[in-house]
Order: sequence, then structure tokens, then C-alpha cells
Amino acid sequence: MELLIATDWPQFANDLADVARIFYGALSYRTVPFADASQTELTEDTLLLIHRESAESGRVKVLLEARGRVGDTAAETYEKCADPLSEKRLHKRALKLALYRLLKNASGITPPWGSLTGIRPTRLVWAEMEKGQTLAQAVDTVRRVFDVSPEKAALLREIVSSQQTLPKPSGRETEIYVGIPFCVTRCAYCSFLSGELGDGRLVEPYVAALLKEIAFVKEMLKETGLSVSTVYVGGGTPTALPAEALRQVLLALEPLAVGREFTVEAGRPDTITREKLKVIMDSGASRISVNPQTFHDETLRRIGRAHTAKQTEEAFYLAREMGFRDINMDLIAGLPGEDLPMFEETLRRLSALQPDSVTVHTLSIKHSSVLHLFGAPLPDGEMVARMQHLGREAAHAMGLKAYYLYRQKYMAGALENVAYARPGLECLYNVRMMEETGHVLALGAGGISKRVWPSGGRIARAPNVGNIEEYIARVDEMCERKRALWA
Ligand code: SF4
Repeated sequence: MELLIATDWPQFANDLADVARIFYGALSYRTVPFADASQTELTEDTLLLIHRESAESGRVKVLLEARGRVGDTAAETYEKCADPLSEKRLHKRALKLALYRLLKNASGITPPWGSLTGIRPTRLVWAEMEKGQTLAQAVDTVRRVFDVSPEKAALLREIVSSQQTLPKPSGRETEIYVGIPFCVTRCAYCSFLSGELGDGRLVEPYVAALLKEIAFVKEMLKETGLSVSTVYVGGGTPTALPAEALRQVLLALEPLAVGREFTVEAGRPDTITREKLKVIMDSGASRISVNPQTFHDETLRRIGRAHTAKQTEEAFYLAREMGFRDINMDLIAGLPGEDLPMFEETLRRLSALQPDSVTVHTLSIKHSSVLHLFGAPLPDGEMVARMQHLGREAAHAMGLKAYYLYRQKYMAGALENVAYARPGLECLYNVRMMEETGHVLALGAGGISKRVWPSGGRIARAPNVGNIEEYIARVDEMCERKRALWA
């Protein structure tokens, strides 16, 4: 669908498009002059929004008129204020709420997250609590203001109550992220900066560059006095590396991993071998991920993952047998060709393994151009919502509790990704990353280092280049970017 917007405030066009995506999924948008708006030929596949405003006695009235796919109007008001930043926030919120109400009325759809389009809804709850509200009051405020469903409000409450038990970052400690941007094959829905391992010619120079960056970070930690809280090796799939290359990276990281947790994403079961698990165990890593995504071989083939459900189970049992006591598993709700009984079967096989944490993702497809790769239809938003609900029930039945969530654009049913863990085994790195509460020193291609200031919400970033060859050639520059971030 195409969204056309006639407005004098084009800076909010993207925010309006985000609200429209809650109801219509992926869509493109463009602004059009008011003069053209009335002459544009409208079809069922076009939504034209005409945005006007009027002000009286310090209050601004935002008016939206929709034509084309939907014909309706809506209005919202906000109070003018002296601080331009606050004014901009109120202005944007009023505009988004007006469109949300308009589309909710016209479509008859009640989105689970209401008018919320942000990726971290828990932040709103924390913000209310910082103003002095209790958890219950804060969740209720967010529920009312943004029209969040009771089920999602309960989820917010469960997550924030889990997060309250976790240690807060001190400001003198940092998380360390190390990216291994290789995979054995590429999944059809992948949006990560990862490349296929191919003939492996980039492994050696990549590891050499990474070792250089690790050595630099060790020096930097001494200079800045920062201590390390968590180490997270992700990707891509770190275990796509040959065992010796993986050993070199993890050994170099070992002296840093003195904090609460050291995670290595084993990820794809087809890359997990006894030898690589031993390398991980010997490095002192305490937490790994073995990601099934689904326990249906047909779906795994369809999405380009070259492993079977049986291989997932074998990899999991091997890891347990070798002594791993903290294993995470990722699932995806909404995979092509899957229905509720299939998802229930996936949950049944997952529950039989009793992992220590589970992340239930919702399939997010940024470009509809990849849909034809699947060769099967995607389940609709309602069914995916049901799958998320079943995932939540299964996690609770395993004794796991939700501890972080994030949303992405282009998700089926405007849903979310939720992580559940056995209390005490929450992944602190993931929480701090998602909530943006801790510093991050990110190494490897595509890593984004962050410096977080404790008050005022200021965050500065230093990204590494995403292209693997560029990273290898410019690793010294990536080190300097980090140094500048802490200057
Ligand atoms: S395993 Fe993950 S990083 Fe690798 S291709 Fe699949 S989705 Fe992308």
C-alpha cells in the first residue's frame, strides 16, 4: 500500500507512516503538495492523509482527514509549551494519536500495542516510575495513554518486575560485544550483517583484525578504568568459524570475561560440534544459544537453514552432557507455511528439552520482495498473536519469566520479540543492550559501541564498518573511533 501525506510538517511524515504500518504492515509513503492532494486518483491501495492545524488560547488542534482506502477524520489537541523539545514531543504524540484513532475506527482493528510504535515499550514504564509511580500505576498509565491491550500490559509488568531484580549498570563498567559476521548459509529472512563463510578465505584476516581490536580494547579499559560486566559473542554465527579460529578469539577474550556472564551464540545447530563446544567451555563462557527457530524440517528447508530439528536436539543434549547449565533457545512465530498445530508441536519439543531461557521472536520481513523465496504463505497477524500467546504459556509452564522485549517494524500483527528466563539466569547483556542503559564496546564488523550518560538520556555511538573486507582493512580506524568516543 502507498501512503500519501499532505502536510506542512513533513518532519512527522515518517511517524505517521509508522502508525499506518500498525494497521497495514509494510508500506511506502511520500509527501504531496496540498494542491495535488485533491487531484490524486485514489485506489483501495492508496491512503491519502491531509493534515491541518489550528491554534487557540495556547492549545493546538491537530486535524487529520483520510481519503482512499479509508474515508474519515480525526482530531487531537495539545497544549503549547515553552520548551521546544517538549513541544515537539507533544505535537508528534497528538498527531500519532489522531491517526491511530482514525485508523482504529475505520478498520475495526484493535492492535495489541495500541498506538505504540517504538521498539522499547518498557522504557515508558520505567519513565513513569522515575516520576514516582509504582510499577502497577506506571503500567496502567502506559496502558491508558497508548491503548495497550490488557495482555500486553501484563507482559510489561512481568518484564519490568524481572528487570527490577537485576543489577543496574554502575557507569564505571561496560558490556563487550564481539561480532562474528559469518554463517554457513544465509536464512531467507536474515537482516543481520553477516556473510556466508564460503571458501573461508576471509576467516584468517578477520580473526587477525579482531585480535588486534581486542588487544586495543584491553589497553583502553586500563586507560579509562572501565571494568567489564558482560561479554557477548554474537553474529552471524560464531560457531560457523573453524574450531581453531574460534579458540583464538575466545582465548583472547577470556581475561576480559571476569564479570557476571560470558555468552557465545552457538546459534545454528549445524555448526555445533563437540570440539567447538569444548573450545567454548575451556574459554569460561557460561551461556550459549542453540537456536531451533522451529522443529519442522520442511520449514527449516524453506527458510534456508541447512539443519534439521533432530540436529537441534542432538546439539542441545551434547551441550548439556558437556556441562553447559545455561542454554538459550530462539523460536520464530509466524514462519511461512506454519499454523497453530505446527507451532504447538515446536513448543512441545522445545519444552521437552527444558532450556534455561527462550526467546520467542515474531517474523519480521522488511522487504516483501523476499516473500516469494518462501514458497508458502505467511500466517496472518491474528494467528501469530496466538502463537506468541502459546509461547508465553509454554515459557511459564517451564518456570521461565519474561525479562525483556523489543519490537521491530514490519512484524506480523504488530507484535514483539520476548525473552523468557529462569529467574537468576536472565541475560544481563541483552537487557542492557535493549534498554540502552549500559556502555557497550563493540568489536568486529558492524558492531556499534555506545557511551551512555547516566542523566539526561544522552547516548553517543561509534559504529564499526559493516563490510567484512572494509573492517579488515580499516581496523585501526575502528579502534580510534572507540578512543574518540571515550575522549
Ligand atoms: S543464522 Fe542468523 S545471522 Fe545467520 S543467516 Fe540466519 S538469521 Fe542471519
